[in-house]
Amino acid sequence: MEAQSQVVDRLRTAFRSRVTIPEEFRRAQLIQVMAMITENQEAILEALQKDLSKPRFEAVMSEVDIVINDIHHVLDNFSSWMKLEYAAKNFATKLDTCFVKREPLGVVLIIGPWNYPLQLLMIPLVEAIAAGNCVLLKPSEVSPHTGSLVAELIPKYLHQDCFAVVCGGVEETVALLKNRFDHIFYTGSKTVARSILQAAAVHLTPVTLELGGKCPCLITGRVNMAAAARRLVWAKFFNAGQSCIAPDHVICSEAIRDALLPEIRKSLEDFYGKEPEKCPDMGRIVSPRHWTRLMGMLRKTNGKIVHGGEGNEEDKYIAPTVVIDVSEDDALMADEILGPILPILTIETLQESIDFMNRGDTPLALYVFTEESSIVNTVLENTKSGGFCSNDGIVHMALPTLPFGGIGGSGIGSYHGRWGFETFSHRRGCLLRGWAMERLNILRYPPYSEEKMSWIRWTTSPKSSCSIM
Ligand code: NAD
Repeated sequence: MEAQSQVVDRLRTAFRSRVTIPEEFRRAQLIQVMAMITENQEAILEALQKDLSKPRFEAVMSEVDIVINDIHHVLDNFSSWMKLEYAAKNFATKLDTCFVKREPLGVVLIIGPWNYPLQLLMIPLVEAIAAGNCVLLKPSEVSPHTGSLVAELIPKYLHQDCFAVVCGGVEETVALLKNRFDHIFYTGSKTVARSILQAAAVHLTPVTLELGGKCPCLITGRVNMAAAARRLVWAKFFNAGQSCIAPDHVICSEAIRDALLPEIRKSLEDFYGKEPEKCPDMGRIVSPRHWTRLMGMLRKTNGKIVHGGEGNEEDKYIAPTVVIDVSEDDALMADEILGPILPILTIETLQESIDFMNRGDTPLALYVFTEESSIVNTVLENTKSGGFCSNDGIVHMALPTLPFGGIGGSGIGSYHGRWGFETFSHRRGCLLRGWAMERLNILRYPPYSEEKMSWIRWTTSPKSSCSIM
């Protein structure tokens, strides 16, 4: 088997050959990614079923179509993103050609997590290809069936000197990170992100960190409880709650909680039936380790389990669970849940709720459910989060024209569509100057004088551009 460093060298040699630079090459590879996914859709769905018992509907939506839609969007637009962007000039640069040139970074490492094991490798791959990079993919070992399928398909569909997959767990990834990359795009947990940053620091490699966190869902003011419960339950229990942007917990007043609970119960029964364990639309927890972690949270909580709470270790099943009377220092509030457990915290006023949301790490997404647009605006203006969505959950991530990424504890950088193209591009500021007007340059050459200084200050000021010529 080819050693990791040989794979990286192969990609670097290919990048230096400039084969990835022409637009036609990028376009052809993007079309190949599309073909790879559409021609192997059944194998992909089967791998996702084996890894996460991912319901077919959810897998098509969140692993296949979301990538295909991103590819279409990128194919339709990337040639305009590649164009030189001419810059505004001042008097001193009036005769120059000044522009921003987007150039690929080089060899990019993309490290993926297990919860959306295809999507979270493919979307960054697509945008890195559009920007002209060579890419090394490292799938998560926790979702091995999807990982092996990606490793099998990529060399069949994409240029083998430019794109490769390396599989493995912690040990292999740590070894891989000793190589120099031109960018590391990491999706995963906050804890591991620190090791990624340390490894990147050795080579001064720029990083994108797509991390998790506790995404709050504030329900307040006038609300249609039935609709709010349906949207909340769908967003929370999609992929068995294992979404980085799933509403982690609900914040609402006691009165709203009491009106919401029966509607949540109704939605759960409408969606998953009286026996969700037998429902094909309810996924499973990815691994025994995560099953134990989640059941441990339920054991330790001082809140009151009002729905669900059961688990089946053999099947890695956890029932959709709702917990009330959860305090800020409860076991369920210590860390991101990433599973089918929904704590409800009661906080009476809007201001207290905003203060609460601003106390912790900045979340990846923040949700507010209300019919009052003034409340939506107040929450939007007075909180911070990677993304924001009112009156629904998760859906903002599916629009490729919106940047997707965290801030503070939930990550660094963003991607999707153009934002991914920018992440994987260097913006080279270029000024092309000829040899004309050399006599004017005496204004900046020594011997310096007050008069020369005032001329120079004027010609370099942005205001000078519109005064003359
Ligand atoms: P993880 O950090 O355990 O693993 C992610 C990747 O890092 C895997 O490929 C793994 O092999 C590798 N890895 C693990 N330990 C490592 C180490 N010590 N050194 C180097 N590499 C290592 O994360 P996970 O459990 O796969 O994913 C869950 C986390 O990812 C959650 O926090 C979730 O919120 C977050 N997430 C974020 C997004 C986002 O878009 N922001 C999307 C999905 C998941």
